[in-house]
Parts: sequence; C-alpha cells; structure tokens
Amino acid sequence: MLIFCKECGLLLPAGKTVCPRCGAPASLPSAPSATPARPPLYETAASSPKAPVNGPRYDSPRPEKGPMGLSGYFGSLILFAIPVVGLIFMLIWSISERVRPERHRLAQAYLIRTVIFSALLLVAALVFSAVMSQIAYRMMYYPFYY
Ligand SMILES: [Zn+2]
Repeated sequence: MLIFCKECGLLLPAGKTVCPRCGAPASLPSAPSATPARPPLYETAASSPKAPVNGPRYDSPRPEKGPMGLSGYFGSLILFAIPVVGLIFMLIWSISERVRPERHRLAQAYLIRTVIFSALLLVAALVFSAVMSQIAYRMMYYPFYY
C-alpha cells in the first residue's frame, strides 16, 4: 500500500508513520481505497444456489417384483444342470418375458454359455476325430513308420 505525505506529497516508505522530509504525521489513504471492496452479501448468497432439488428420482428404477433371492438363483442353476430339462427351461425362460427379469437374464446368460461350450466341444470333437482318423489311416497304410 502506497502512502503519500499529505503535506509535501513524498512517497513514504512502508511502515513509516512520520514523513522523513517534512515531519508531518503520515495519514492513511482516502477511505474508499482503504476499505477493500466487498460484494454485498445478497450477491454471494445468490451466486451459490445450494437449494435441495426435491424432484422425483429416476436413477434407480425398481422392477415391480422383488429381487430374486439366493435360493431362486440356486434353484435355477440346479435346474440348468439337468441335461435335457435344464436346456428346455433355459430356452423357455430366455424367450419368455413373463418370468422374473433376473431369471430371464440368468437363463439367457446360461443359454449363451451353453451354446458356446457345446460349440467348442463340437469343434474339439471334430479336430480330435480328424486327427485320430489320420493316425489310423497312416497306421493302416504305413505301419512301419510307427
Ligand atoms: Zn511530508
């Protein structure tokens, strides 16, 4: 903050209360510049609205039916483990929209898994049989190389 002597106009060093040239007591600068400009209180209150929003919350839509319990999941998994009946239930539940959404999704997931597993098994069986037939063929026609 710069303070000038009101008598001679000398710029006073910081912390000096008496002018070194004329000896006049240093006065504070004029009032408007001395008081830091602060915005009125109502402006700061209006600029930060923290009013709680009391609207309906749609971030967690809940299904009408209650969540399927652990016993429901276990029952479904045990049912899916049955060779033929499980596949039939899996197909019905994954197609039907009237079952619980959890059961529906579980059936779809298991159906996809079953399809992928059986496809992999089929490929493995085909490769295995091809290799075995090739070995059998060679053993049949070129027995001395083995
Ligand atoms: Zn002075």
